[in-house]
Amino acid sequence: MFSIGVDLGGTNIAAGVVDKSGKIVQLASIPTQRERNYAEIIRDLVELIQHVINKSSIHWSDIQKIGVGLPGVVDKKNKEVIYSCNLPFRYAPVGRDLKQFFDKPIYLENDANCAAIAEHNCGSTQGVYHFVLVTIGTGIGGGIFIDGRIYSGFNAAASEIGHMVIHSMGEKCSCGREGCFEAYSSATALIRQAKKALESQNDSILGQRVRSKENPLDAKMIFEAASEGDGLAQKILRDFIYHLSVGIVNLINIFQPEVVVIGGGVSKAGEDLLEPLRKQVYGSIYSGDFIPKPKLTVASAGNDAGIIGAALLEK
Ligand SMILES: [Zn+2]
Repeated sequence: MFSIGVDLGGTNIAAGVVDKSGKIVQLASIPTQRERNYAEIIRDLVELIQHVINKSSIHWSDIQKIGVGLPGVVDKKNKEVIYSCNLPFRYAPVGRDLKQFFDKPIYLENDANCAAIAEHNCGSTQGVYHFVLVTIGTGIGGGIFIDGRIYSGFNAAASEIGHMVIHSMGEKCSCGREGCFEAYSSATALIRQAKKALESQNDSILGQRVRSKENPLDAKMIFEAASEGDGLAQKILRDFIYHLSVGIVNLINIFQPEVVVIGGGVSKAGEDLLEPLRKQVYGSIYSGDFIPKPKLTVASAGNDAGIIGAALLEK
């Protein structure tokens, strides 16, 4: 049997046919065009699901269920998206609307939680019952597993770890507060910090790359320049990793997870990110060396973790 997993994001809608082991056997995606209204986006979503099934040549009767991951507060019981800051969805009955087209069980979940479910089933935290996923991308997303289950809070709005303040009266955040984790440790924040540093030291390796390369400045360029000995890139990363460690130490002190798993584009830096991060984190967690320390690792379910996690949803 197979499932359909959908990652309905602010930029793209991606749908996959996924087998029982969490392997994607067919994939299709379209731009979300989120400036459109809810009904138009749902119509595209229905067509995309039909398209990916047809493309896979898997028979409809072999599709067991459909799972959809979305950014925002998801009421799993009523299959509604209560609120999303990236999509025009307010009390949007996504599950009921899809049910009109597809006679299969339909499940909804927050997208970061879907990524955590994928890590738990076929990624870096397979078999781990207590872990926190920190996804570093445009913002910072979080998925918290407690006793082998996603923690959602009483109102399904939990795990917004990106909006934990780590710097009082710090950088302005998109949520309206100042000094949020996301305002210092997202990929967006890293690029902003690098651009600011380059204003005063444009002759560094990183500065030369930015001037000569056709590609815009990204996290990969900063890690590469740092590993080649560029002092400016190293300083940018030291500051970035320091702030990242503050947020992660807060999470560890509250949850004491067995593993903190880092996902999103920045996690592709692997040990170049993890090694200095471990030093910072292990030097700051409460209780020091007296109790076992959580492991720090990067996500391994891949870019399509959101689709895999959505396909694995059960209730
Ligand atoms: Zn915030």
